[in-house]
Amino acid sequence: MNAPRPPQKPLKSLNNALAELLEFAQALSEVETVSTFDTDGRVLAQDLVSALHVPPQDNSSMDGYAVRCADVMEVQATGAALPVSQRIAAGTSGVPLAPMSVARIFTGAPIPVGADAVVMQEDCVDVPNVGVQVKVAPAPGQWIRRAGEDVALGAVVLPQGALLTPASLGLAASIGLPFLPVVRRPKVALFSTGDELVMPGDVAPEHMRPGAIYNSNRFFLRALLMRLGCEVTDLGIVPDQFEATVDALHNAARSHDLILTSGGVSVGEEDHIKPAVQSLGRLDLWQIAIKPGKPFAYGRVGEAHFIGLPGNPVSSFVTFLLLVRPFLLKLQGVTDTAPESVAIRADFTWARADKRREFLRVRRNAAGGLDLFDNQSSGVLTSAVWADGLVDNPPGQTINPGDVVQFIPLSGVLG
Ligand code: AMP
Ligand code: MG
Repeated sequence: MNAPRPPQKPLKSLNNALAELLEFAQALSEVETVSTFDTDGRVLAQDLVSALHVPPQDNSSMDGYAVRCADVMEVQATGAALPVSQRIAAGTSGVPLAPMSVARIFTGAPIPVGADAVVMQEDCVDVPNVGVQVKVAPAPGQWIRRAGEDVALGAVVLPQGALLTPASLGLAASIGLPFLPVVRRPKVALFSTGDELVMPGDVAPEHMRPGAIYNSNRFFLRALLMRLGCEVTDLGIVPDQFEATVDALHNAARSHDLILTSGGVSVGEEDHIKPAVQSLGRLDLWQIAIKPGKPFAYGRVGEAHFIGLPGNPVSSFVTFLLLVRPFLLKLQGVTDTAPESVAIRADFTWARADKRREFLRVRRNAAGGLDLFDNQSSGVLTSAVWADGLVDNPPGQTINPGDVVQFIPLSGVLG
């Protein structure tokens, strides 16, 4: 006689799963001082406050002449030229502008005291042995970049928790900072489970035994972790055995902030992650109402966080982006971890509404709409390479050409 099936727990919504997960991610408190050159992708541990104005002085945004508008007005009726009383190149500073004269000035050079506009050289005519004639009446302030117009003295240019980008490195340098305080990198141990898995290079394609597949998850998960600034310990493939899984988890927990695994989080007899984590700590196995990527596990092994991703490659990839990425950002002190999404027109049909919220692999086309990859199976990794984003499709929703859908660009979540 069959045992009665236990009642199915309702699926957890992605938003609830994410909120719970982020609760567990307390920000790392250790701060490192790192050369500004090497901080791309790191997270600021303190506000960066500017100790100067940028630019430091009013300066010219053109090659031309610094003038006093009133003087130009005065001579303009007669068409007379004004003498050039000084020359100010970038990196030098001039002297106050003599009355009824102009200063030759170059882009980036400080505006001399007394000048109130710059006239570009194309609007002036050289009058040999006399000076220059200004052909176009200048407006006060024209072609002057104001001191502090980029950054004011005392301003916070980047707040604590900011994820640094190439442009932020430049901005930090512009206020004179050769080193930046950043949160230390999270230490992540990564392993894959599955007796069917073979490492590329260990067995040639023509010698693969029946049922064997190459371990693909290990490669993209490692790369995704590194893009998020993690120090990755790659523990390779752990066999589908309880003892081996316990050993791997126990060893990794001692020196890592997070243990990340793929595969083995369903509840089949060959799924050993659940009992192994439970024997060492605690585990929450979630069935999340998303497609791809239903099974997901969070737990603790000693002091370390544990996250178990599904084995199917696309499920693993998508759940990493939707759940592990925000978790790792929060661990580094980033406060705004939600992926950006934009409304875009679908140029495809999606007739099979699902009960779960779906993340469809799509690509922007030249007409400004979205095309759908034709095989949305959770095992088809080609879809994740072809796609440049995901459509976040609500439960029970079909899509017709012309419908506006929410698009999450991969460029916004891949690091
Ligand atoms: P599991 O979650 O262990 O039941 O695995 C689900 C599916 O994903 C199975 O078809 C596995 O063969 C496949 N799979 C699991 N781990 C990997 C991996 N590291 N690389 C590629 N496929 C995997
Ligand atoms: Mg498995």
